[in-house]
Amino acid sequence: MTDQATINVDRKEIDKFEGLAERWWDTEGDFKPLHDINPARVTYISERADLENARVLDIGCGGGILAESMAARGARVTAIDMAEAPLAVARIHQLKSGVDVDYRHSTAEQEAQEAPGAYDLVTCLEMLEHVPDPSSVVAACARLTRPGGQIFFSTINRNPKSFLMAIVGAEYVLRLLPKGTHEYEKLIRPAELCAWARKADLSVEEIIGMHYNPFTRTCTLGGSVHVNYLVHARREDEET
Ligand code: SAH
Repeated sequence: MTDQATINVDRKEIDKFEGLAERWWDTEGDFKPLHDINPARVTYISERADLENARVLDIGCGGGILAESMAARGARVTAIDMAEAPLAVARIHQLKSGVDVDYRHSTAEQEAQEAPGAYDLVTCLEMLEHVPDPSSVVAACARLTRPGGQIFFSTINRNPKSFLMAIVGAEYVLRLLPKGTHEYEKLIRPAELCAWARKADLSVEEIIGMHYNPFTRTCTLGGSVHVNYLVHARREDEET
């Protein structure tokens, strides 16, 4: 891997996920919220993109919660992460699930150098807030997607309410996530994400709030984007 392709990686962030890997598929453990929100986000994606036989790249796949569920819906999924232990867990877990995902240790930037335009669909969920330069990942996602293809991002907004809900509430009060999972300065405002997307020649189709209720363990999409949100973007067709 070239330095250029790995430069946008925060080793401290990767180490957090290396340490948690064995608990990735424990639906009552540290990744409970990801398991609980997954059905809503997969439904959202599948209502906007035909997953059957689609060439999909999942960036920052971790233990493969999203990657597996897209493969189960007929997508041909490649999934990348920079943490080795979650990838090892993902490779074992898919044998149990009976799906076939191609897991690779790589970055979005590296993949964009090697396979530009190779994917119908790129997903990058709950990952941008863990990298030093998220705009570089957004640009790489754009290069990876074929003209007319679609991209889905999700992350956490940066404001006093998101600080209270996503950091104080989720990590310290309810202990849904390990302390230190998210750092306030790295959270991303929708306007920032949309500006990076537009700069990468993506059109932003929708920004939608994602609301997780830890008591009912359900996730609904819509309404305010003050805390968690999803962005649906499209790479322009070449002739348009
Ligand atoms: N997208 C998954 C997991 C999110 S956790 C889901 O939503 O279910 C964030 C993941 O991003 C971790 O597995 C972490 O190792 C990975 N990650 C962080 N920085 C990365 C980088 N620069 N390149 C690739 N993966 C990265």
